[in-house]
Amino acid sequence: MTTNSRRQFIASTAALASLPLLAERVNAQAPGRKLGVALCGLGSLATNQIAPALLKTRNCRLAGIVTGTPSKAEEWKKKYGIPAANVYTYDTMSQMAKNKDIDIVYVVTPNSLHMQHTLAAAAAGKHVYCEKPLEISVERCQKMIDACKKAGVQLGVGYRLQFEANNQECVRLAKEKVLGDVKIIDANFGFAIGDPTQWRLKRDLAGGGALMDVGIYCMQTARMITGEEPNWISATEVKTDPVKFKEVDETISWQMKFPSGVISHSISTYGANGLMGFRVGTSRGFFGLEPAYFYNGNRGRRSDGTEINIPVADQFATELEDFADCVLNKKPTKVNGEMGMQDVKLLMAVYDSIKKGRPVTI
Ligand code: NAD
Repeated sequence: MTTNSRRQFIASTAALASLPLLAERVNAQAPGRKLGVALCGLGSLATNQIAPALLKTRNCRLAGIVTGTPSKAEEWKKKYGIPAANVYTYDTMSQMAKNKDIDIVYVVTPNSLHMQHTLAAAAAGKHVYCEKPLEISVERCQKMIDACKKAGVQLGVGYRLQFEANNQECVRLAKEKVLGDVKIIDANFGFAIGDPTQWRLKRDLAGGGALMDVGIYCMQTARMITGEEPNWISATEVKTDPVKFKEVDETISWQMKFPSGVISHSISTYGANGLMGFRVGTSRGFFGLEPAYFYNGNRGRRSDGTEINIPVADQFATELEDFADCVLNKKPTKVNGEMGMQDVKLLMAVYDSIKKGRPVTI
């Protein structure tokens, strides 16, 4: 067993052992029943991606909502046939404990509210699927992990690309050394952000800027492709609009070194469009995706001329089905809280390197 696979085995076994209540809850469900998902936070992602995806899932369905806006509650009740008994506000989530129709709470609120909503859902005995980034500090991530363990519920993180076939094909190419050893990774993601009043530009809600929002995808790419954790990070930041980006980072460029000698470079930005993919340089060629991080149409190519363009079903439906399968079969999710916390730890190391003006070791 390699060190990595041993670690995964130990993590999986530990995660299973920490779910004593899960078996009872799952056994209590009628066979063939679709797990009920309550969406917590009815913003853009919940409205445009997750709710439509839940209409396509084989083993789970949209059963409830948590919202602070009464008009949205009315709209969603009508549109999705959600009964009044399954509608909650952020302050009434504890009452979900009595509701057998809801098995999973999907937290889709701004980053720094993830902990509060995860803790409330776990205390009500519900499994939690939480959007990325898991939270805005390692300590807060740890509290979420601990609360879910204590409640005997699973905690999953919305890393849709962990289930996206083109991204996973690249993981296979790396693992099986199809084009030789991975040597260099170049992964970049960004967009020119609009509305200057949105929560993504507020430190207390977002925890950071483009790095926390989209840089996390590049971090995931580097970790997925290498199957390793970086032990050295060096980062630098630029701000071309210090008014708009007063509270959070606009553009960050960072490098990471991995134990095997792989080096990665990434840029995350809220200042420019056009960065949305990765390329992996190997000892015999290269492979990569462009775009790599979109909801649809991710594709790329290999240096041997082979295209990477696998048709993909709805990414959100796929990740939700996987999580529901994990809950139903008492199997730990691969996108667990520890994975989410490790990304936050590494993103914090990027900020730390910028603050210190020098590379940091991890
Ligand atoms: P959004 O602003 O469109 O929605 C946020 C929701 O939270 C809104 O319904 C808002 O009313 C609610 N909310 C509750 N309390 C709030 C408060 N104090 N301030 C502001 N809003 C509050 O944001 P979004 O784009 O849907 O993002 C939500 C989460 O999903 C974020 O964590 C984000 O990182 C994540 N996300 C993930 C993906 C992905 O591809 N996996 C894509 C987009 C967003």
